[in-house]
Amino acid sequence: MNFSEIKELKDKIFSGHQITKAEAVKLVKTENIETLYYSANQIRAKFCGPFFEMWSVFHQNLGRCENDCNFCPMSTTTKVDYYATCDDSDVNTQLESILKLKNKGVNHIEIDVTHKKLNDEQLLEMINMVNFIKVNADIDICASFGSLSREQLVRLKAETKIDSYHCNIETSENFYPNVCTTIDINEKYKTLKNAKELGYKIYSGCIIGMGEMMEDRIDIALKLRDLNVDGVSLNIMLPFPGTPLEKQLRLSNQEILTTFAIFRFINPKIKIRFARGHHLIKIIEKEALRAGINSSIVGELLVNAKSSDIDNDVKLFLEEGFLIKK
Ligand code: SF4
Repeated sequence: MNFSEIKELKDKIFSGHQITKAEAVKLVKTENIETLYYSANQIRAKFCGPFFEMWSVFHQNLGRCENDCNFCPMSTTTKVDYYATCDDSDVNTQLESILKLKNKGVNHIEIDVTHKKLNDEQLLEMINMVNFIKVNADIDICASFGSLSREQLVRLKAETKIDSYHCNIETSENFYPNVCTTIDINEKYKTLKNAKELGYKIYSGCIIGMGEMMEDRIDIALKLRDLNVDGVSLNIMLPFPGTPLEKQLRLSNQEILTTFAIFRFINPKIKIRFARGHHLIKIIEKEALRAGINSSIVGELLVNAKSSDIDNDVKLFLEEGFLIKK
């Protein structure tokens, strides 16, 4: 697409047009890459305004997972016992960290568990934890408890009053068999659909750079639009030693930025979050904030990885003209 075609497409989106896959494929092949990023930023500004959301993630370590997601250090495919070394702090320590983050402007935390399916006893444990944090920190909580059944989602909402649920779809339907064979991707879609129907805000995410093509990334963005998600976390592949993807090469900066921009063209109104891996590519963080991003994971307690420096993050978001939503 040339300069005028990109501008024309952006104007159509301003008027409510939903871009087609054919348009998206043509768009990502443009040589006018700066126009693509600039237009994505304009779409973000038009539909989402200057507000920026800081989001933080807390992992609950339930031991090695029974699934084989080949990017994940907790999976059956990894040769290293990461789960034995990851953060295992008690709820009071976690509460302390959450309160510190809240003071710095984080208004939303995600509680993430490592297993695909929680049994009723594990779900009760999580419900008690959510309620403890809610009472003591008064902060928005998003549950990321894997593929819960509809009945479990009803119970979670009734017993905690939380209104956000997160379930990563990881990648496109086409590429998914290369990533995981033990979880049916349709279960993830079903969980998100059920959660939406039950009145949750739904959040999802994917990992880019696992060997998929740009067309797969377009398919992910289109699928998330179909599912009517309220936000998406875009994770950059972090190759963990000992996992099947340990030698995976990092995507080029241009591919990462183009992915952010195309997600914004396809999903103009949602939160698009710079997620795992962003501290590794600080060099393009500014450019990413100018290519459609309006949220970021900060102060994250990653499994065996460095957390971001929240003070520097906030400084950058403000310098880029965003207002931090508190
Ligand atoms: S289900 Fe989650 S914790 Fe388990 S292997 Fe997959 S990504 Fe890792």
